[in-house]
Formats: sequence, structure tokens, C-alpha cells
Amino acid sequence: MNNVARETFAHLPTAVEELPRLSRELGGPRILVKRDDQTGLAFGGNKTRKLEFLVAEAREQGAVTLVTGGAVQSNHCRQTAAAAARFGMDCILVLAGERPQRANGNLLLDWFFGAEVVFVGQRSERDRILQQTFDNAAQSGRRPYLMPYGGSSPTGALGYVFAMQELMQQGVIPDWIVFGTSSGGTHAGLVLGQRLHAYPGKILGISIDEPEHWLKSHVSSLATQASERFGSRIEIARDEVLANDAYCQAGYGIVTEAEREAIGLFARTEGLLLDPVYTARAAAGLIDLLRKDYFGEDDSVLFWHTGGQPALFAEQYGDLLL
Ligand SMILES: *Cc1c(COP(=O)(O)O)cnc(C)c1O
Repeated sequence: MNNVARETFAHLPTAVEELPRLSRELGGPRILVKRDDQTGLAFGGNKTRKLEFLVAEAREQGAVTLVTGGAVQSNHCRQTAAAAARFGMDCILVLAGERPQRANGNLLLDWFFGAEVVFVGQRSERDRILQQTFDNAAQSGRRPYLMPYGGSSPTGALGYVFAMQELMQQGVIPDWIVFGTSSGGTHAGLVLGQRLHAYPGKILGISIDEPEHWLKSHVSSLATQASERFGSRIEIARDEVLANDAYCQAGYGIVTEAEREAIGLFARTEGLLLDPVYTARAAAGLIDLLRKDYFGEDDSVLFWHTGGQPALFAEQYGDLLL
């Protein structure tokens, strides 16, 4: 596993902490949290682990401009902009949504890092404009490197293969790992990491916005492609991927009572902050499953915190959360 290109800038290993007061409050099994909201790059988050491999690949290819896209409050775009600044590269972000009156949350940070931002009003136009932005950058000699949404290419997924190895090396072997899944790179890395490092527990992705059947095929295919980076292809089957899409009916980025409850519960019992879009939804799913006795009484459940807290300070969420 040592011959894949990587830039090491994340603060690793991230801490694993017990959440005894949350566990008691829910009358549930032992709950742990892995603090990937503390990966060190510009407020951290799961994209930092992916970017160690994405930036390395970009540099190997001689690229000097990182191009990617996402929502206006994208955590991936914020961390990509920070990584570009750190390596003296340019960054162009294609964000789906209107340019807000005032910059806030992640978008404010994108501008601090000097990223150029292209707003795309219509979501359906996003893919086309992203490709066009990349093509224009290439034609004008800016040597761009294109990252998919969420950094979820096979290269990006490598970050979570190594994260699984890190967890094993910390001697933490929970019965369950629960986290929010969306573009699938985190999920794919964890599932491939499970195979490579013989993690005996179960990995359950709570969907933020995608149907279960899409996640199963997309994640298994990403994981299989990522395995080739280690020299031999490992087939990951659809059925090896556990995903639950019962909590995403409201749609991407919509805060409902369930997300609000999760943020309040984690904050009041443990002083731990969730973000409004991803970890609050994943935690809401976890809370519901705990209440339904989905896990065994003697199980340990690790909630893998993927970051995202700068969105708490986005104007669109402020009032909704209290
Ligand atoms: C991007 C993101 C996720 C989802 O990760 P994917 O690899 O895209 O599935 C979860 N939580 C936060 C905070 C994120 O920014």
C-alpha cells in the first residue's frame, strides 16, 4: 500500500472518543465518535483525507489549477480551495446556486483562500458548466486537474482505505461504523479498507441524498476501481455495501425536525457539534436506529464524524437550527 502517491498534510490519526452521556440519554449501546471533523485543514472534514491523494495525483500530472464543483455551502469545495492555497495552486469552483448577497459559511472561506467561483443557477446545468470550465482552463494553459463532486474518484476514495487502516491501528474495533454517505468516496474507501485490513464489523452509510440502490452500485464500483491502485483488483459486490436511505426524503440540505433534534442532542449531552447537512442527518438516522433497537445491547457503535461545521454559520441555516 506504500506506492500510491500521497501528500501528507492531514492531522492524523484523528481522535476516537467515547460518548457516554449520549449513550445513556438514548438508553443504547456504547457509542464512540471518530473525529474526522478535526483533520486539520481549514476546519477539517472527510475531504481532507481524499485531498491527500487527489492533490498528489494532480501534482504528479503537472497540474497547477484544481477544478471542482458542489453546492454553494460545499465542504469539499472549501477544503479543496484550502489545499490549493497550501500547494500554491489555483482553484476554480463551480457552485450550484445563486450568488448570495453576503458571503457566509463555507463560501466566505472559499474566497479567503483565493478560489475563483462560478455560480450556476440551474442545477441541471452544473455538469456541463463544470466540464466547460475545465476545458476553458486547459485551453488557456492553466494546466487544470478535474475532481468530481465530493472528490469521489477512485483516487479520492484511497483516503478512507487508509483511514480504516488507521482505525485498526488505534486498536478500535467497533461492531458498527455509522456515517453519512453521499457521493460515495468515503463509503467506498471504508468498504475496501474493510477487506484489506480485515475489519470484522459492519459499515452502515446513512444516505444524505441518494437512493440505496444507486449507492450500492456506485460505492461497490468505486471501491473495486480503487483496489487496482494497490496492484491487484478486488471485486467488491453490491451486496457488501450497506446503505440506508430512510432519512433523506426531505432532500439535500433541507433541515427538518430530525436534524434539529440530532444537533441539539449531541451538543447538549457531549458538547459536540454536528453540521446541518451531513452529520446531523446521519446522526438523526443513528438516533432513530438506536431507538428501534436496531443494534445489539452489547454492540459498540462508532459514529464517524465527517465534519462540515462551517455550514452552521451559513445564513440559510442559522434560524432553522434553534
Ligand atoms: C462530503 C461530505 C460527506 C459525504 O461524503 P462522501 O464521500 O461524499 O459520500 C459527509 N459529511 C460531510 C460533512 C461532507 O462534507
